[in-house]
Amino acid sequence: MLSDNQSAPVRTQPSQLRDRFGRIMKKLRISLTDRCNFRCVYCMPESPVWGPRDVVLSLEELHHLASVFVARFGVEQIRLTGGEPLLRSGAPRFVSMLHGLRAHGLRRVSLSTNGALLARYARELADSGLDGVNVSLDSLSPDRFHQVTGGGDLREVLRGIDSAREAGLPVKLNAVVMRGTNDTEIPALAAWAYRAGIPLRFIEFMPLDSRGLWSADKVFTEREIVALLERDFEIEPLARTEEPASYYLLNGHFRLGVISTISNPFCARCDRVRLTADGRLFACLFSPTGVDLKSAIRPTVNSELLESRMEAAIRNKSPGFVESSASMDRGTVGMHVLGG
Ligand code: SAM
Ligand code: SF4
Repeated sequence: MLSDNQSAPVRTQPSQLRDRFGRIMKKLRISLTDRCNFRCVYCMPESPVWGPRDVVLSLEELHHLASVFVARFGVEQIRLTGGEPLLRSGAPRFVSMLHGLRAHGLRRVSLSTNGALLARYARELADSGLDGVNVSLDSLSPDRFHQVTGGGDLREVLRGIDSAREAGLPVKLNAVVMRGTNDTEIPALAAWAYRAGIPLRFIEFMPLDSRGLWSADKVFTEREIVALLERDFEIEPLARTEEPASYYLLNGHFRLGVISTISNPFCARCDRVRLTADGRLFACLFSPTGVDLKSAIRPTVNSELLESRMEAAIRNKSPGFVESSASMDRGTVGMHVLGG
């Protein structure tokens, strides 16, 4: 447990986490747990072995790291992820804790969830100051949803989306597309999101699954997604922004995104870093290893060591996705550990 003065934000002028390519890190994703109540085929092992609980950082320790990223290094946005972040006890409390970092430059706190527990927590999350929630939704067919998520209940997730909107939380949808698994769902998902007025992004299947299912031919590409949608909508491509997705305007007003990490990577503009629940810092989704931050704060905080490890991790950030990454052995560092 950190003492009070150890967990207080560092009050210095922020400098920047800048890598060798001039990219400045503004966004931090914090994985609250590697555990999940789903077994999505593109993410989880069929029989996952969870990390031991004692290696997981406490919410106070995670908050301390977040405070250094924000107050010392100018990070502006934090997204909570997992595993399933709503399985971590105290997740809404953690959102409130992060709220205090707004005085130090934090502008946005959001959360990515599979939605199964969202109906239960939506109100509390909204009251805690959460700015928005991304919900994964890969199919609107109950059977296919059950199959893709390894047992998920579509009705629960749709209830979660309704509850979040009722609580006033802005909702966005993410759908991973795998050829031969759910690519036929693309038109229905787009039509549903369009009618409901909920922003939707399709995500190309990345080689970060823990089952070794990925192969280049399973990637349903941005171009193919757009070609399918052109049958139902008038589509106008929008200029690329700093966001990871390419955006298109459907029928002149609905903004739909595609995150095409494989066919059209945004790595050259990447401004995000990832912290795992056990305190490893990954400067890139495709880094084979993370930098250990835990030993710089446990049992006591060594601020100098911590900051130098953070800076070194970012300095060594790789250029991003290259085809050779696709065949590397991910070991246990799959998406459920990294948080997407
Ligand atoms: N459990 C939460 C959820 O499902 O939204 C948060 C964690 S999940 C790892 C974060 C994001 O990563 C989700 O949008 C998920 O669809 C995406 N994801 C997981 N594995 C992926 C893969 N192999 N390729 C592309 N996206 C993936
Ligand atoms: Fe769990 Fe999210 Fe991974 Fe699905 S994508 S298994 S919901 S962490």
